[in-house]
Amino acid sequence: MTAIASPSQVELLDREVCATVFPPPPDLTISEFADREIIVTTGPLAGTHWQTAFAPYQAGIMNALLEPGVEIVVVCGSAQWGKTACAVCVVAYHMVHDPSPILVVEPTVDPMAKDFSRNRLKPVIEASPALKARVAKARSRDAANTTLAIQFSGGDVAIGGANSAASLAARSRRLLVLDEVDRYPKELPGEGSTLAIAFKRTQAYRRRRRILMLSSPTLRGGPIDTWFHRGDQRYFHVPCPGCGHMHAFRWENVRWTDDDPVTARLHCPACDYAIDDAERVAILARGEWRATKPDRDDRSIVSLHLWEAYSPLSSLREIVTVFLRARAAQKAGDRSEMHTWINTTLGEPVEPDDGEGVEPHMLLLRREPYGQDVDAPEGVCAVTLGVDVQDDRLEYLVVGAGPDEETWLLDRGVLPGDTSRPEPWDMLAELLDVEYRHALGVTLPILATGVDTAGHRTSEAYDFCHRKAARRVFAMIGRDGQRPIVSSPAPRRWGRGARQVPLYTIGVDSAKALFVSRLALTEAGPGYVHIPHADWADEELAAQLTSERLVTRWHKGVPDTFWKKIRPRNEMLDAYILAYAALRLCNPKLDQWAEALRQRAAGTDAQLAPPPPPRRAPWLSPRRGWLGRRG
Ligand SMILES: [Zn+2]
Repeated sequence: MTAIASPSQVELLDREVCATVFPPPPDLTISEFADREIIVTTGPLAGTHWQTAFAPYQAGIMNALLEPGVEIVVVCGSAQWGKTACAVCVVAYHMVHDPSPILVVEPTVDPMAKDFSRNRLKPVIEASPALKARVAKARSRDAANTTLAIQFSGGDVAIGGANSAASLAARSRRLLVLDEVDRYPKELPGEGSTLAIAFKRTQAYRRRRRILMLSSPTLRGGPIDTWFHRGDQRYFHVPCPGCGHMHAFRWENVRWTDDDPVTARLHCPACDYAIDDAERVAILARGEWRATKPDRDDRSIVSLHLWEAYSPLSSLREIVTVFLRARAAQKAGDRSEMHTWINTTLGEPVEPDDGEGVEPHMLLLRREPYGQDVDAPEGVCAVTLGVDVQDDRLEYLVVGAGPDEETWLLDRGVLPGDTSRPEPWDMLAELLDVEYRHALGVTLPILATGVDTAGHRTSEAYDFCHRKAARRVFAMIGRDGQRPIVSSPAPRRWGRGARQVPLYTIGVDSAKALFVSRLALTEAGPGYVHIPHADWADEELAAQLTSERLVTRWHKGVPDTFWKKIRPRNEMLDAYILAYAALRLCNPKLDQWAEALRQRAAGTDAQLAPPPPPRRAPWLSPRRGWLGRRG
């Protein structure tokens, strides 16, 4: 080597040698590193230097990884607090100051892991000179940089998906970043828990490993909730502008007037001072993380909680607006929006919906009279039928529906007989012709029927659905897992003539969750389920409607949530869901139907109306034999 390096090149070389050979300067924290070296590449501040001061709580999160003895940092929080940006800063710090093998795990390889790499990490590497220098040097030696693998001098970053065992099963890793852990698959077939697989990668580093776990929670007892409670449970405390009292923001201290989100303020728990949005963001700068469980057993775990009130990008008005919308949906019987709000705004888990509060005797207490000689009260404008098929009987439930999916149970019964023979099916065919006497003096036919064709007597059930297709008798099969209440049909061929019948899949988990939440409503209105004073609306019916609960079980530290039968028989629950699915398939505009029904009734002379048909044949009594004998 003959050329003499210019002073600037020597200086540059020295800095690089120092960074590689010597440990990072002990006084440089991750947030200080980020402020010095990271260029923001997304959002309104793109192109500027990262400023931890913009969201001051981020410093305590990132720097917790450098606290002596700490191996695992858990952040349980809402969406929107800068989670991904923090993850990028932590990875970047280790690339420059503490080079080691790094693994980032996203819930899926495609699109989430690829998205993290392409849109979050790589642009920052490109834009930030300190990082670019690290990667560029490696690139000249090794062309192995791909979307999911980035080589740098002293280590590499692998980006994997929790849905792929292959992407987790690589070499040992010192730094592990686990993003959105509550959205990981619980287990990989034949591999065990995804979290356990990822943790195994860090084993070789023992006490020198660093794990950053970030997620919005889902259910109480889910992964992030569980790990949060294993740590010291830090909350970000800020001083009240009025009295200086240090406190953490809490949802119960958010107050507003007249359902107007513009009036929302955060109140100081000590002096009741009303903190507005400008003050809320300003006092973050004087905030600090305080542990609420400092005396935990395992000092290697730090856990921190954040919710949307801490985000400088959010406003109290937005938080309250979304809450009011979720509350309205909940009042109508749909709790899913409220769950999402609790998870992603409050950063809190929801309690598993175990059906508590819907005890059978409570259902019986709220039975109501429908009226003399009336099968369907005024609110009903469509009638559907659900049929559960057993080897020795058919069980059915007749459900009336009105605007906003308020429903009325109209009739229930058992059609006894070996269902491999025609008799019970013939009785069901007769039942399809029954008309229901409406409070307005008209009669309502059965609009549609859902028949369970899974398990028992499949081909007889298909036969019946095929024969009665013109009467909108639908073949249905229940499937668990996250899926819509009714999916588009799959053609099903069966029998000698290979006839075709459309088979509709019902998302039983979604349907049961909706039904259980509606059954819990206590006031008539949208979604409410009405039960009449009738001999068939008895303890057995109430027990069956409340026969299943959503429970969470633990298996190797992973929660498994499923519906559990708490009573042996659940035919009426199934039948309600089949009737409801049949209604959804017809998708009637129920408020327009209600209006049409009123017009029809107004034009009908009650004197001249044909007498109502006999309401039900003698063999339709649930009291006859079957229920009594088995119950
Ligand atoms: Zn105060």
